[in-house]
Amino acid sequence: MLGRMRRLADHPRPIRYRLEVDVDPERDRFRGEVRIELEISAPIRRIVLHAADLEIGAVSIRDSDGPVAVRRVTARAKHETLEIVLGRALAPGVSELRIPYEGPIRTDLRGLYLARSGERRYAATQLEAADARRFFPCFDEPAFKARFQISVTTRDRNSVISNAPIRRTRRNGRKKTVEFEETAQLSTYLIALVVGELRASRTRRSGETPIRVWHVPGKEGLSNFALEAAAESLSRLERYFGLPYPYRKLDLIAVPDFEFGAMENAGAVTFRESLLLCNPKQATLAEKKRMAEVIAHELAHMWFGDLVTMAWWDDLWLNEAFATWMAFTIVSDWKPEWNMWLDFEHGRAAAFSLDGLQNTHPIYTSVETPDQATENFDLITYEKGAAVVRMLERWLGPAAFRRGVRRYIRRHREGNARAADLWRALDQASGRRVAAVVRPWIEREGFPLLAVEQTDRAGRSELRLRQERFFSSPRVPDERRRQRWPIPVGVRVRRSRGRDRLETHLVTRTRTRIDLGPAGSVRWCYANALESGFYCPVHASDLLGRLGGEIDRLQPAERMGLIGHQWAGLRAGRAEVGDLLELAVACQHEPQAEVLDAWVGPLAGIEETVAPGAGAEGPERFRAWLGERFGAPFAELGWRPARREPDALRLRRAALLRIAGGIAEQPEILDAACEQLERYLLDRSALDANLAGSVVELAARVGDKARFDRYLETMHEAATPQERTRFLFALGAFRDPALCTRALELSLTDAVPTQDVVPLLGKLLQNRAAREPTWEFIQTRWPELSPRVPGGLASRLVAALPALAGRRYRSEVAAFFRAHPLPTAARALKQALERFDLDAELRRRAGPALEHWLASR
Ligand SMILES: [Zn+2]
Repeated sequence: MLGRMRRLADHPRPIRYRLEVDVDPERDRFRGEVRIELEISAPIRRIVLHAADLEIGAVSIRDSDGPVAVRRVTARAKHETLEIVLGRALAPGVSELRIPYEGPIRTDLRGLYLARSGERRYAATQLEAADARRFFPCFDEPAFKARFQISVTTRDRNSVISNAPIRRTRRNGRKKTVEFEETAQLSTYLIALVVGELRASRTRRSGETPIRVWHVPGKEGLSNFALEAAAESLSRLERYFGLPYPYRKLDLIAVPDFEFGAMENAGAVTFRESLLLCNPKQATLAEKKRMAEVIAHELAHMWFGDLVTMAWWDDLWLNEAFATWMAFTIVSDWKPEWNMWLDFEHGRAAAFSLDGLQNTHPIYTSVETPDQATENFDLITYEKGAAVVRMLERWLGPAAFRRGVRRYIRRHREGNARAADLWRALDQASGRRVAAVVRPWIEREGFPLLAVEQTDRAGRSELRLRQERFFSSPRVPDERRRQRWPIPVGVRVRRSRGRDRLETHLVTRTRTRIDLGPAGSVRWCYANALESGFYCPVHASDLLGRLGGEIDRLQPAERMGLIGHQWAGLRAGRAEVGDLLELAVACQHEPQAEVLDAWVGPLAGIEETVAPGAGAEGPERFRAWLGERFGAPFAELGWRPARREPDALRLRRAALLRIAGGIAEQPEILDAACEQLERYLLDRSALDANLAGSVVELAARVGDKARFDRYLETMHEAATPQERTRFLFALGAFRDPALCTRALELSLTDAVPTQDVVPLLGKLLQNRAAREPTWEFIQTRWPELSPRVPGGLASRLVAALPALAGRRYRSEVAAFFRAHPLPTAARALKQALERFDLDAELRRRAGPALEHWLASR
């Protein structure tokens, strides 16, 4: 696992795998045999391929001249390879390598692993990035595409799902062998197998493609939303790419224990249950939007990722950035009323926050080890990448962008490609020099801060822009800030008369002046129109004042952007806490729920990080002020929606509750939440679903042992995955010390599947009564806990630790992970330590200003 990812030689190349496995999820091990057809173009006597944690049997090989003696087979655990040395050179043409083997059904959510649901056991695969080698010996690099014929022997009662349709099933007593059709050309990481007692939904067709949802027994009736979202996405994607869905069927499988959100295995996409199964009447709109987005994301990969695959893991970002952007595009088209692009702003804000650190990384990073590939599944790869794709699409125009994407997909279908191939296709489709503009965004870390001034001078109105690199820390020296990007700057020009004007200027220099017209003709400008660009505009205070007076003239996305940019400015020492809070006051009657939600992060940040520096009573006084401001509009709306109340109003109520209840903890709201909880537990329709998450959590914060027990019971009996996770994660919100301990102990038991351990600990670290015991627990129980922290989730655990705040904890965290290194969270650890410092600095700097500001209220 720690070994360098040695690249395999280009030759020989696998053409076809015949994989036979015998899998019984009731057992701890499985057996297999793989026969690999190799294309031999030059005589060789040595073959190196991947295998890890597998016990290899008697290897044999034959070429066109017959059997070839195998001299030696050497497994190199460090490199995860198998070296086969032959008695004579293989003849050019096709050879067949045969490897019998056996291996464990793993318990760490990778390779072929065990997933439990109650008493039932399942075997499922998760092979990205480099774990196909834990399932079968193979050339486990994305550029070695081949065809696969898979056959599986298992107990008769089990369902077996893989990438291709079933060709035939042979029964033999209590066992059966399921043979699948041959797949299209695929990279090894896209192979899938799920074995166990599963139920299928009805089949829904999208054109020629049959779509089904698979789930464990007892979850019937929760598939309709996913079926609809998949069918709606698939037809739109076919239109976008101008190519039909590339595989013969589409199975969507809810796996009861799953590390990531979902995995785009060709034709057999696997999901966490909570992202595939739901009761649309009880799910919140946010949950449905997230499910639709994840489904569209995975299906976009069927073309962008599966049909055309990155040549190496360093271009992983291209897969993920594109699929993330595409999902928002597709779901917006399906449900325009969902305002998906406003949700995108939340992800973009999180990416800004990470990318403002000194320990960020460029979207493009070289990858040498499997752990580095895993580490790159982060906000920079997905959210910043998608924001850069969107900036590019808006700069080129959607039609030219789509022409370029189609050209790229057609040219490389069933093959591999690099980012440069996409830039070339976009160049040709648009007639612009795309690479020169996009490469600095991809290859350079960080993003620009754009200082914006608007002045009337010599009879003309002028916009003055100055760019530098943004850093969250005010202490970074000026010379490190001297960087330039080619920025497509979108400007909203608010004119004195007539409608607003939108302009785009490609700004390449450090300082730029833009003529806006005769003096007096422009009231103000906003320099990231529609938030199309991945940069942070900081408007001069007079300009900000004029703009703030007409904030409703900005589009909702721009209002969200402005809030985020001002919060970033405060952290970076470029804005005052009072100005941010004045802006919050101006937004108190904000009609758009998503804009209110953009306040949750900054206001929670002030409460957690700044207020403890604002005197002994700081946090309490801040919460009281906030509760008064945002509690009033919440009280006006009341708890119960009117009949046929539109979604927009329901979401606004939920957003106000997150602020006035979740952050401000207004006492009357906490009391009312407990009453609402009682009614909700008796009757799920007694509460608007959009409020359920907040109510369950708020009631936990003031809950006792009896309530904890009821949550546990409700979690076990939950009818939907959303309800199960809602009550499970709320166990981390109880403040009674004995209950914090119980929640911690629970994380080591089967009551909490491996996939949910890190999110539960994250919840406990957010809980101010539980965070110190949680850190204590992590340190003292690490031997038991660490097997339940899979590689892809380790960075999330580390990222939650700065909530501990304070120098003592910073040094403890650094020391602990020096002694217990987490290879997939090495960068996350540096980022976490940096956040400890930034938070301390912000508290020192802005705390007294907040105290003063609150006193002047
Ligand atoms: Zn993806």
